[in-house]
Amino acid sequence: MSEYRTEPLVVPVCSGLLSEGERNRRVALTSFSGKLAERPTVPERDVICYECGRHTLVPRAALSSRCTHCHAHLRMTDVVLRHGAQRLTVRTLGDVTVQADAQLSQLSVVCRHCYLEGRGSGSFRCEGTLRVACSNRIEGSVQADTLVVERGKELILTQGATVNVLEVYGKVTGRIVARTRVVLHRGAELHGNCFAPTLEQAAGAKHRGEWSRSASV
Ligand SMILES: [Zn+2]
Repeated sequence: MSEYRTEPLVVPVCSGLLSEGERNRRVALTSFSGKLAERPTVPERDVICYECGRHTLVPRAALSSRCTHCHAHLRMTDVVLRHGAQRLTVRTLGDVTVQADAQLSQLSVVCRHCYLEGRGSGSFRCEGTLRVACSNRIEGSVQADTLVVERGKELILTQGATVNVLEVYGKVTGRIVARTRVVLHRGAELHGNCFAPTLEQAAGAKHRGEWSRSASV
């Protein structure tokens, strides 16, 4: 059995540089190169940067991140806007809720999902769903993947809306451009011209205005 000897920490060379063989041996001892494949993967989320509009991957659990293309700081937290909120411009990859008692105008919101439980006017750009659960008059532009107007609520869009899907359970007034479809559920009303490849209208739903399949017509 060989005797255990500690190695001297001081290298007996004036320059302080290790010989190549010794350096490689120490690098190999402390290197994790063989374990790279086992590194735990961080769950990521594919988002669209709200500054440059390109797809970028961000850690799912992060509160903020940076766009890999334009390096913009990306906020990822959810935002709740209460009555009397001072900050009317919101940019986040999270969700925005306008609380039921709020009455906010001149909002500028860019987010994933937006819930209008209270009154909020201004411009909205949602990658996900904009859900209107309170009668509202929106003076600015509205862009969303899906716009949902709940039963018994009236939404007036003075500048119209551009969406993929519009689902109406209540009443909507304004010009609608939908890339996929417009669905008017039972009892729903749509007042205004509507551009959509498909218009699904349940029995008892009303549409007052022109319908054409594409906005260019
Ligand atoms: Zn970007």
